[in-house]
Amino acid sequence: MTEQEYKLPYRIHLVPITGPSIETKSWACGECQTVRGAYVEAYKCCLPRLCDVCSKVTATRYHNLCNVCSRKEEREKRQSMWDKMPEVEYTGGPIHDGVRFFENDEDYWEYYDEKDEDGIVELCNVKKVGHNLSPDCVLDFINERALEEIEDHDQKLEGEEELKVALEKFFESQTYMIWETNGKKTTLKQPEEP
Ligand SMILES: [Zn+2]
Ligand SMILES: [Zn+2]
Repeated sequence: MTEQEYKLPYRIHLVPITGPSIETKSWACGECQTVRGAYVEAYKCCLPRLCDVCSKVTATRYHNLCNVCSRKEEREKRQSMWDKMPEVEYTGGPIHDGVRFFENDEDYWEYYDEKDEDGIVELCNVKKVGHNLSPDCVLDFINERALEEIEDHDQKLEGEEELKVALEKFFESQTYMIWETNGKKTTLKQPEEP
């Protein structure tokens, strides 16, 4: 689309059933007809946006960067995240390579059996499912919903203590474990050829 073909914004008019039309202060995009308010906003609405870095047309007007530059920025961000992570020695346990989880280094090398360089991975903490929940957060949720319906704000629900004890037991009895990356990296040395 060239600048000549681009349809300019137009003013919004209100048309009463009787009497002359009234000019408003709002402008609409000439291309998509969306009311944008100010002229500049309406003008920019469907105008192709150029990449802040290389000036190529971006995917949509909501993107500041074209696909190539945004992928590059993404890569650099990820790299600097890895660079900043403190390095520790590997003593076993689950790991994450930025894409997938592995149960341990053996699992990792089985997957990357063709790889001919050391692997840099993030360590994981092993936690019980629901570790980030608590009886209190469940009770808060119930109270919020139930008390919405009660006009008397001093009113409390009965049996909270009993429910709390039951919930504690519930969270305690979970056995499913999950892995969570912990912001520390380690280098996995390539296994020796047998
Ligand atoms: Zn538009
Ligand atoms: Zn670009």
